[in-house]
Amino acid sequence: MNKIQIADKEFELLLDSDNISKRIRLIGIQLNVDYEKRCPIFIGVLNGSFLFMADLLREIEVPCEVGFIRISSYAGAESSGKINQAFGLPEDLHNRDVIIVEDIVDTGFTLDYILKEVHKQTPASVKVCSLLFKPAALKTEIAELEYVGFEIANDFVVGYGLDYDGLGRNLKAIYREKTVPADLP
Ligand code: 5GP
Repeated sequence: MNKIQIADKEFELLLDSDNISKRIRLIGIQLNVDYEKRCPIFIGVLNGSFLFMADLLREIEVPCEVGFIRISSYAGAESSGKINQAFGLPEDLHNRDVIIVEDIVDTGFTLDYILKEVHKQTPASVKVCSLLFKPAALKTEIAELEYVGFEIANDFVVGYGLDYDGLGRNLKAIYREKTVPADLP
């Protein structure tokens, strides 16, 4: 299926499920090498990361722990437009190798907040693994962003965990919003 409709928006295929699986297998191989003889803790950011986390973890062969956190955002903060709160962050990250697993890095504000909270516990190391990354949308430097599935353009995407208005998380592929070409002058 190359085109889909979700609520009032039309989307077109960006990454098919085969492409996503192959990339995740490669990230898994890289993580198995980088974390050999260590026992990292993977922390997925809900809701968007649930499918990526499940498929990624099936590729991990080093001993590891798994957890999830949920972020809530409130409108109103001046700098980012958001004030976040992280629920469920493990409290025993001191000296641990932490890997934050995200669906997508857009402005980077969400991750920036999570990373500050994680660093307070003085872990041994902190890296971020994100399936998607929109470099053109980034507004804050994320030095920990080490593993990226796909760099994509600054389009709105759905599928494979990502939603539009609560819908589309169950799609096996990733779709981008179809943009209407601007009228020529
Ligand atoms: P950031 O704080 O980096 O701007 O945004 C991170 C969060 O915004 C992601 O975890 C995701 O929930 C949401 N987000 C950013 N870009 C997109 C997008 O293109 N599609 C969807 N569905 N969510 C997005």
